[in-house]
Amino acid sequence: MLKLEESKGYNDTAVIGGLDRFLKLGASDIIAAVGGGDDGELLSVSYSSMSPSERQEWVRRCLARLESGEFPRPLLPSPPQRGEEEGLFPPLSMGEGQDGGALTSSPRAKSLPKRPIPPGLTLESPVDRLRGVDVKLSARLRRLGVSTIYDLLYLFPRHHNDFSKVARVSELAPGEERTIVATVWEARETTLGQQGKLKATEAVVSDETGNIRVIWFGQPYVARVLKPNSRVALSGRVEVYRGQVQLQSPEFEILDRQESLIHTGRLVPVYPLTEGLTPRRLRSIVWQALEQWAPWIEEFLPEDIRAKARLGLRLRKGLMTLPEAIMQAHYPDDLPSLELARKRLAFDEFFLLQMAVLMRRKSWQEAVQGVPVRADPKALESFLTSLPFSLTTAQERCIREVLADMKRGTPPMNRLLQGEVGSGKTVVALTALLAAATSGYQGSIMVPTEVLAEQHFTTVSRLLGSLAHPLQRENLITVYLDPAPRPISVGLITGSTRTSVKRELQRLASEGTLDILIGTHALIQEGVEMPRLALAVVDEQHRFGVMQRAALRQKGDVSPHVLVMSATPIPRTLALTLYGDLDISTIDQLPPGRQQVLTRYVPPERRGAAYGFVRKEVKSGRQAFVICPLIEESEAVEARAATEEYERLSTEVFPDLRLGLLHGRMGSRDKEEVMGRFRDGEIDILVSTAVVEVGIDVPNATVMLVEGAHRFGLSQLHQFRGRVGRGEHKSYCLLLSEYSTQEARERLSAVERIHDGFQLAEVDLSLRGPGDFFGTRQSGLPDLRVARLSDQDLLKVAREEAAELLRDDPGLQKPSHAPLAKEVSRFLGRVRDEVS
Ligand code: ADP
Ligand code: MG
Repeated sequence: MLKLEESKGYNDTAVIGGLDRFLKLGASDIIAAVGGGDDGELLSVSYSSMSPSERQEWVRRCLARLESGEFPRPLLPSPPQRGEEEGLFPPLSMGEGQDGGALTSSPRAKSLPKRPIPPGLTLESPVDRLRGVDVKLSARLRRLGVSTIYDLLYLFPRHHNDFSKVARVSELAPGEERTIVATVWEARETTLGQQGKLKATEAVVSDETGNIRVIWFGQPYVARVLKPNSRVALSGRVEVYRGQVQLQSPEFEILDRQESLIHTGRLVPVYPLTEGLTPRRLRSIVWQALEQWAPWIEEFLPEDIRAKARLGLRLRKGLMTLPEAIMQAHYPDDLPSLELARKRLAFDEFFLLQMAVLMRRKSWQEAVQGVPVRADPKALESFLTSLPFSLTTAQERCIREVLADMKRGTPPMNRLLQGEVGSGKTVVALTALLAAATSGYQGSIMVPTEVLAEQHFTTVSRLLGSLAHPLQRENLITVYLDPAPRPISVGLITGSTRTSVKRELQRLASEGTLDILIGTHALIQEGVEMPRLALAVVDEQHRFGVMQRAALRQKGDVSPHVLVMSATPIPRTLALTLYGDLDISTIDQLPPGRQQVLTRYVPPERRGAAYGFVRKEVKSGRQAFVICPLIEESEAVEARAATEEYERLSTEVFPDLRLGLLHGRMGSRDKEEVMGRFRDGEIDILVSTAVVEVGIDVPNATVMLVEGAHRFGLSQLHQFRGRVGRGEHKSYCLLLSEYSTQEARERLSAVERIHDGFQLAEVDLSLRGPGDFFGTRQSGLPDLRVARLSDQDLLKVAREEAAELLRDDPGLQKPSHAPLAKEVSRFLGRVRDEVS
């Protein structure tokens, strides 16, 4: 440092804040060294007030003293030998540019040596077989979904900190995140805070350009790890503390023996954490696993697919190999490599999903017998003409598609009927059910909740209401459908159906005389036999997983036709992949005369006005929903937040109104009860988490107030909005949000503007980052860890490649496809676990 000062011409710039301050800051060793002995006066003067020639003399004397070696510890540690430095750090030269350049550190996976596999271990071995992973740690890892070494390699960072550029100490300015490479002068444990309660480590480190204080709050142990004279890389925030620049709780890494940097000096992974597991610890374990195992990960993608993907994806080289992608996903060389790794891993997810879906579809088509249903067109005609409205063209088209599947018999229908809330899916389903009934078969409608079952029963009763001689008993209606020879009966079974009624319905169903049964999944699937079941309609698909659908079909050797109804609009490209095992019919047209729900963003300062509006609507006899913000942490946290909001609104804002609360932690009975009371008008304002999204129909509700609106997906906001505007009254959707980004503003304004769910879904895809297009934990979709649903071109290429490969080798029998077959079944296993 003194030499630097010398070389700079004694202008007091070698150290941030000047030499005086530096000497005062408590570098006790140095003070002892310089100030000790009979030259004590060296410290009693002020460097800054000296003239240049006095400074020169002072520096000379200090240097002489230091070089005489009469002090306890070498003050300036010898710089590392050039040889050691090579490859780890490019030599830092002074005075050039802002950054000292990139550190190249860990070798790329392709150059990582394949270390011999420890005996008895495989990628599938439990993580506790890794060095340093004990029972406690492996329990913690399990909370992150990691039980095997393989899982650990697939535990990808949420993001990376860019600590790849090395700055020099003299360049550090407050407010920046920087990385320096420096030598430890001293590091000691200290206490801070009013009563000295907070333990900390305080250190002074230096490079050729100066020195800086480093503080680690709450981490006294760091003092024991950082030995004086050791070389360290430090990455963290530069702050000003009592007028002095310092590094605050930086990530650190001791460079002396370490071959690869894993905490600093590069793009450093930031993993999801769990209690009792520090980022440092997790990084070390992952690194250990990578070093040993990454080179052994089997490449399952056929070479030609990797190469061909280059064209579709406009990659210069084709997809990265798997071992390299895994390595780079954790410890990327640079940002472009990280993106290439992500692309490869995302491709895998789409590709495997598509393979799984196509293979299942194929086995379904080959193995399963269906029932040919030849409906009496006259009977269906008399139903359709009895309706008080005429079908939309879209409804007609969907009915045709469904009836054609059913007529074919084998393979049985496996179709998704998607259409906006209120687009009239029930009529389509009911027509199909009547087709089954009039040809002597049975059908069912299964829904996730009791309230929805009742709702469907009411809708169906109404739709059948204008047929001749409807006969209505408790939970049972019977209608004549000309020219069908006998009446058609429709029953409803829910948890609260009286036992005697339930028994009677079960008996009729098992005799085959009950034609159509409406109820919850659980009840119908477990409690009712329907020997002549030819059609199962499943409503609200997004709560119903891929695997549950499979289970539905596997009852008996003859499978019923399956019609899945969903109000979640999914763009076609996406639907084709996610539901590649389903055919798709879309009602892309609303019945005429539907009112639009007026949608407005409400800034936080207008919250009072929004409440005033809710009150006004309630006073004129309407009802309202208040949706609480989405909280990612857990359902429990979310439930607590909703409960608090409910209490706040009940006591402070609407003490005179009747409020109800709905969240995912409530028992299904309680949920049903609350939804029932809201439907019956006994509750004015329903405070709810996102669980309300699914199909509840309360025509008297006219206001949907969504808190924290920017946190929801556009499609989900659209679903919420669909809960109102279902009656004759003008309805409103208020989006409350304290969003902070331009992007959030754009998304909300899209919801204000666009009222078409499909269009909105496309916008959602294009504006959204990673992950959850559906925005709910109950999506029933396999969890894609890396792929973003906005990766449209990846998705397209993956889909095409999967289809082509299966055309060539339908059962993945070829020896060269063995690794792929293994990977597909592993993927299926993962998906299955998630659903169960
Ligand atoms: P969703 O698709 O949300 O399930 P529903 O099937 O419940 O919608 O239909 C919503 C309402 O629209 C019902 O009251 C139904 O009777 C009515 N409806 C259905 N089709 C038409 C149509 N073509 N014209 C007018 N009203 C219709
Ligand atoms: Mg519906």
